[in-house]
Amino acid sequence: MIELDATHDPALRSWVASANSPQADFPIQNLPFGRLRRAGQDWRIGVAIGDEVLDLRLVAEHGAWSEELHGLLQPLAAGDLNAFMALGGAARHRLRAELSSALAASVAPSAQSALARCLVPQREVELGVPCDIGDYTDFYIGIHHATSVGKLFRPDNPLLPNYKWVPIGYHGRASTILPDGRAFARPHGQIKAPDSEVPQLRASQRVDFELEMGVVIGQGNGVGEAVPIERAEEHVFGLTLFNDWSARDVQAWEYQPLGPFLSKNFASTISPWIVTLEALAPFRAPFARPADDPQPLPYLQCDTNRNQGAFDVQLEVWLQTAAMRERGLPAHCISRSGFAQAAYWTVAQMVAHHTVGGCALRPGDLLGTGTLSGPEPQQAGSLLELSQGGRKPIVLPDGEQRSFLLDGDCITLKGACERPGAARIGFGSCSATLLAAVD
Ligand code: CA
Repeated sequence: MIELDATHDPALRSWVASANSPQADFPIQNLPFGRLRRAGQDWRIGVAIGDEVLDLRLVAEHGAWSEELHGLLQPLAAGDLNAFMALGGAARHRLRAELSSALAASVAPSAQSALARCLVPQREVELGVPCDIGDYTDFYIGIHHATSVGKLFRPDNPLLPNYKWVPIGYHGRASTILPDGRAFARPHGQIKAPDSEVPQLRASQRVDFELEMGVVIGQGNGVGEAVPIERAEEHVFGLTLFNDWSARDVQAWEYQPLGPFLSKNFASTISPWIVTLEALAPFRAPFARPADDPQPLPYLQCDTNRNQGAFDVQLEVWLQTAAMRERGLPAHCISRSGFAQAAYWTVAQMVAHHTVGGCALRPGDLLGTGTLSGPEPQQAGSLLELSQGGRKPIVLPDGEQRSFLLDGDCITLKGACERPGAARIGFGSCSATLLAAVD
């Protein structure tokens, strides 16, 4: 486990003034990694601090770093976050300590001004998908989601018998994972109306969001090398927000017998910043099962997982319709949930299970958690659940109703860790607008 150190001190402040606001997503205790591009330039690797980004190519060029640090900064200066992620937790930990010291308010003014030249305001750059994602797997670890969606499809048998034994997942498409802010068109797919004998190819009428977190793999494992659960988190770089957009009418027709296919592969949105396991260290929570549930098989359980396997992240879903945008009305929060309350399996269990048969994970691979609905109906992480399968539309403050998303709707996911005695750690925004289908 990652020990708390001076970089987590809640009293630590930065000479970057915007990082010191109590509501900042990116205080000096966070330091998440992402990719940025200025107009007309190439992609760079950056670390978010307050409203700014530290451009790590400039940091490598201008900072007075030791030889060891120059070595660590080299792949980052070259724009290759995956190569840095492959180095594992010790390298990440080391760089975090150095950047934390260099950005601290106590640093000498001359050192401040050298690093200040490496800052660029976030609003002036394009933020991309944070790393090269080679493979993407989507899990299904939200038990309240699995139960309530199961009820819609199978009222008498909502949770299939394997659910409490196997961390269920399927292999998805990395090619359509989109950066924050990238709009996408309503997808076409095969849809079979209940009153029709045959399906038709048409635009989905039931486009939905899924509130998820993304687990980004750091150090990989070789083919045939199972990662034991005790070491699983050594292979995790950090977490993001993740929206696994879904076409429910396509899904209903195609999902048996092999699971989702085109209903999930038209778009997914990832947030721009990978929040590292170091930044999340103050927000670990026990992993527990109800006593009468099956306890995990031995390869899915260890003391560290039991004591601190969960992450306490608060999550929100915000909706702004086209009409709200036209009238200048702000987005409305339609759901609040939490990672720890929603998840039946932990991140370590996802990694241990994914690799137990010998599957190789590579730096930059993404594991989606699955929809993280809380235990209460209003905490659901999808419209499918919030509208009870489309039967009971949600009502927005301006009187509009939604069973599923309409063209022009913008969904924004937000996430943050907060507790007394620790600095707030935010995840930034994960936002996209649904556009009309392309004919
Ligand atoms: Ca999903």
